[in-house]
Amino acid sequence: MIMSFLSIDIFNQIINREIPADIVFETETMIAFRDINPKANVHILIVPKQALKTAKDVHNDNLSLFGELFFVAKQVAEMEGINGYKLHMNVDESGGQVIPRVHLHLLSPDFECDL
Ligand code: 5GP
Repeated sequence: MIMSFLSIDIFNQIINREIPADIVFETETMIAFRDINPKANVHILIVPKQALKTAKDVHNDNLSLFGELFFVAKQVAEMEGINGYKLHMNVDESGGQVIPRVHLHLLSPDFECDL
């Protein structure tokens, strides 16, 4: 089923503290907070503060930002005490993305989706 993008970038509202979230990690460029509807014991969303809609917005000039996503995932996983983990990203509406803002899902191994 193709999900539609929400019209509002909720994650930008979380970054701007306009709506609450359980924020677990933050830097100048990244924020990480718990998913409101967790699919695993640990389910954290890692979001670049730069307003990029989908991973298709990756370009030569922002490659490091995408590398940083993986670096933050490693740091947050260590903080959460999970050794192995799953990283998942939905890309664009037809790829199942709902929130129109690049985000990486960090999931503990009990997540049972067969990708
Ligand atoms: P997507 O399908 O876009 O990759 O994933 C969006 C994720 O954002 C979903 O797992 C959903 O549960 C989560 N989510 C949606 N709205 C909110 C919210 O207001 N706060 C938080 N913390 N997570 C949200």
